[in-house]
Amino acid sequence: MMKPVLTIVVPCFNEEEVFSETAFQLSTLLKSLVTQNEISNRSSILFVDDGSKDHTWNLILSENKLNPIVKGLKLARNVGHQNALLAGLEVASKQSDCVVSIDADLQDDISIIRIFLEKFKEGNDIVYGVRDCRNTDTYFKRTTALGFYRFMERIGIKLVPNHADYRLLSKRALNELLKFKETNLFLRGLIPLIGFQSSIVYYDRKERFAGESKYPLKKMLSFAFDGITSFSVTPIRFVTFIGFLSLIISAMAGGYSFVQAILGNTKSGWTSLMISIWFVGGIQLLGIGIIGEYIGKIYQEVKRRPKYAIEKDIYSKNEANMSYR
Ligand code: UDP
Ligand code: MG
Repeated sequence: MMKPVLTIVVPCFNEEEVFSETAFQLSTLLKSLVTQNEISNRSSILFVDDGSKDHTWNLILSENKLNPIVKGLKLARNVGHQNALLAGLEVASKQSDCVVSIDADLQDDISIIRIFLEKFKEGNDIVYGVRDCRNTDTYFKRTTALGFYRFMERIGIKLVPNHADYRLLSKRALNELLKFKETNLFLRGLIPLIGFQSSIVYYDRKERFAGESKYPLKKMLSFAFDGITSFSVTPIRFVTFIGFLSLIISAMAGGYSFVQAILGNTKSGWTSLMISIWFVGGIQLLGIGIIGEYIGKIYQEVKRRPKYAIEKDIYSKNEANMSYR
């Protein structure tokens, strides 16, 4: 393959503050790659507007008029980062030899896209961008992220540590990814499951160029929880184990009270009674909660609801009207 068609997919949710700068930097890079004959001149940047409430979509449209290398996909409503990214990947897969996914906020060093391409040309189907230094993330975000990767490793989920969704996928890796039909998406857990030859490129993560994080704590926690429960049944086993343990403990406590009763030491027994009621009740609730979480997941999966709806697509259409300035 001489000059691959590259599409850079960028999910955007209320990103009007960063859009122009991101579009400028990415198109400058892409154009220079085209002039250097690294990629085909059919390459482009696909901004996926994930149901933004601000002017993101209008900005995408007007940028596309001036600079047709910038294209857009408008989703009918906000479906979240993972689904929006998947929408972009699915649409891009039809016209690209390889796809790079990146966030809109310029936190990830775009210059390594060149190295991604080199690795791709060396025969890697997946190239992971990995954050070398996270000094620009808050202390809280760094420690919770580290704890999360450790925990995932512990319970046997294969992840590339410190890799978010900044990566290159070849057409064939992408096609394999699109065969995963699950509703609860956790892309960074799915991609290592694809297989094929892969490689890692390290970079420094910068601060968000402008605007605020679209991942508040609540979304972050639910994302982490999805990551765990979509890939592992260890939490359910853990609950079973705890239940078993509490059974043994109560049997031992029972034996002890029996002996005490024979010796005539029986007191009111109120404390132990209350403690065991609460203890066992707590464990049961925990267990039911975790099982419920999995049942909820199954419920969502069996419905097979579509993950997104495309409202407008200016990527697939105007392929012919490409010009580079
Ligand atoms: N994003 C999205 N839909 C959402 C939330 C976020 O498409 O519902 C996009 C967002 O515009 C950005 C990327 O996902 O391009 C990552 O979000 P952000 O940078 O806010 O997350 P952080 O870097 O703080 O984890
Ligand atoms: Mg960010």
